[in-house]
Amino acid sequence: MDPVSVTVRVPAKVNVQLGVGGLRADGFHDLANVFFAVALGDEVTATAGEPGAGVTLSCTGPDADAVPLDGSNLAARAARLLAARHGLAEPDVHLHIAKAIPVAGGMAGGSADGAAALVACDALWGLGTPADTLLELAAELGSDVPFALVGGVALGRGRGEILEPLPVTGSYHWVFAVADGGLSTPAVFRECDRLREEAGTGSGDAEVATPDADPALLAALADGDAVALAAALANDLQPAALSLRPALADTLRAGTAAGALGALVSGSGPTCAFLAKDAEGAEAVAAALRASGSCRTAHATHGPVPGAAVAAGSPGIVVPGPGA
Ligand code: ATP
Repeated sequence: MDPVSVTVRVPAKVNVQLGVGGLRADGFHDLANVFFAVALGDEVTATAGEPGAGVTLSCTGPDADAVPLDGSNLAARAARLLAARHGLAEPDVHLHIAKAIPVAGGMAGGSADGAAALVACDALWGLGTPADTLLELAAELGSDVPFALVGGVALGRGRGEILEPLPVTGSYHWVFAVADGGLSTPAVFRECDRLREEAGTGSGDAEVATPDADPALLAALADGDAVALAAALANDLQPAALSLRPALADTLRAGTAAGALGALVSGSGPTCAFLAKDAEGAEAVAAALRASGSCRTAHATHGPVPGAAVAAGSPGIVVPGPGA
């Protein structure tokens, strides 16, 4: 008997380095993107639906109202894509998203749910899809989806979807300051191009050097050196996020004043990420940020953690008894 429901836990990401090349003719930018998976994450539960029900969705969590519950949701798109890849008809499945990752926050929450739905439906339907096929489907869904499958720390090239796992030592303590309202990722890239034009450096891929991973950052990760990692944190989208949301400078200052080793805007923002010395330091930075009034809330967490995986004791799995 197949399970009636499967729960998958999936991490959010922070980009400890986000190098952005010039605008390409196809509208994308070449990236040197060092992804880092953190324990702050979502849970997606896939439950077998009634015949003919199709793909249905529900979502809980502080940002649930901002999550689309139609066919545009990345979890629903993932379920349909996986079914199509196996030549299955429109699947009957309910996907529940328990959402902790801020929506439109630069932490790839939608991508995470897409990756989680691939893994959950694969288990629910007993498909045993090979890992490289899941990665291919993930890349089709979006540039950040493959990393949510892989987790850990990885260098993403191209649009971010060509992944190379990176060696990392130890665990790092992070704080994420959640802003009120999101920022649109395409709008932040457009602002990055506009600022480059305004500065006279140009924004095309012939004018901007192809970005590459910073050797000092890679060495810090391999050595487990949080102080060196903090010094190497870099995000080429940060000036654009600050230009669109100047108040983020106050958030970055508040976390740094509270003792964070380093701070940066996470991806396209507006979530701000702070690296702390240890778990206690992270709790102190989170408390100071919450008290500062410069963000909606702040969460202390850690990483790296693995990518999307069936949750231990996935609650809905029915183990058939003898004679079932
Ligand atoms: P990224 O860091 O990958 O640029 P983000 O973290 O800034 O993304 P998301 O939370 O992924 O942003 O949401 C971006 C938009 O994607 C949302 O505004 C929403 O319309 C859409 N979306 C589709 N599916 C989901 C989902 N499962 N969860 C949240 N948003 C989703």
